[in-house]
Amino acid sequence: EMSFDVDRIRADFPILAQKVYGRDLVFLDSAASAQKPKVVIDAMVSTMESRYANVHRGLHWMSERCSDDFEAARDKVAHFLNADRNEIVFVRNATEGINLVAQTFGRKTLGPGSAVVVSEMEHHANLVPWQMLRDQQGPELRVVKITDAGEIDFTDLERQFSDGKVKLLAVTHMSNVLGTYTPVERLAEFAHAHGAKILIDGAQAVVHRAVDVKAIDADFYVFSGHKLYGPTGIGVLYGRRELLDQMPPFMGGGEMIRSVSYAGSTWAEPPYRFEAGTPAIIEAIGLGAAIDYVSAIGFEAISAHERLLTDHAMATLAALKGVQAIGHAQDRGGVVSFTVEGIHSHDVATLLDKQGIAVRAGFHCAEPLVRRLGLESTTRASFGVYTTTSEIDALATGLRRVQQVFGQ
Ligand code: PMP
Repeated sequence: EMSFDVDRIRADFPILAQKVYGRDLVFLDSAASAQKPKVVIDAMVSTMESRYANVHRGLHWMSERCSDDFEAARDKVAHFLNADRNEIVFVRNATEGINLVAQTFGRKTLGPGSAVVVSEMEHHANLVPWQMLRDQQGPELRVVKITDAGEIDFTDLERQFSDGKVKLLAVTHMSNVLGTYTPVERLAEFAHAHGAKILIDGAQAVVHRAVDVKAIDADFYVFSGHKLYGPTGIGVLYGRRELLDQMPPFMGGGEMIRSVSYAGSTWAEPPYRFEAGTPAIIEAIGLGAAIDYVSAIGFEAISAHERLLTDHAMATLAALKGVQAIGHAQDRGGVVSFTVEGIHSHDVATLLDKQGIAVRAGFHCAEPLVRRLGLESTTRASFGVYTTTSEIDALATGLRRVQQVFGQ
């Protein structure tokens, strides 16, 4: 039996003690950005108070300490994903990681006559960069269908790959709207069997379960620090070493070069080739602390806790008249979207907010998906390590009040 002391975990997050509108905060918006444990805040503050300097170029004590801490954060990320340290590129967020791949790997290998496949459940971050690449360079952009339960339709996937043009499958590991986990091992095997590479958007998944890029056989994997209890401004691109080696730079500037003259420049080795300019030093160190934090709790315990919360939420919402949960995948994580009959999601969210309950409403940066579901918007409750079943009960009570305001 897993022991999971949620009260002890809550004590690690100073913000959760806040009141909003004089009420206890019920924070059900972790899928947008998670709250930060004290250890993350402390790691960042203590760096700034005791050993802050620019990294990699200083020959002085501060710069060496700071560079060590920054590179130690890279080691933590590498260990976290089961990658090598030189396969870890620091970026600003998942969005930048995907744009980096589109504008380097994509520009080099995807032109007219080739195709990129995404799924119907992508966040805009894993759709728009491929549209931009299509418009710049001419690869086709294809969209694989999902089933009504919210899972990848493998029959359609076969169809999309049947002419041999597909060079890249870019797919989410977990939907931020439906909560669906995609079978990434199977998708990677499928892509590779068809001569394509796979990019996996792990922005949601990495928060909820252990990820092993080698076991998945991923070519590219991206995530953001701020959803993983770390700071904003730092994200990760994992790239398979032999792919990164062949990729041209993304942005030019300091840190990413080997030598520079007016005639031309030569590039540093990965990952530095892709890290032009001063990196997000403090934020990387904060992300390292966040990884230490979740690793100490352990993903077995985190997943079990979130499964309990999600099951509780699905059962609780199912018992509410006029409330409809969206997405019924077999394998799903701690995100539950729903509609309330006759009430717009923005009204639902605004009236919940007045009761101290934070949820998200709208398209969730996945407009084509929400439309594919035949909806104009949804309300979304999402869970973190600190979420309790009583917060989900508070959501249910809150939803009843919203319905009462609307005379239901
Ligand atoms: N992909 C998914 C599945 C997401 O949920 C998000 C964030 N909502 C992103 C990508 C983009 O993350 P970021 O804004 O941190 O780049």
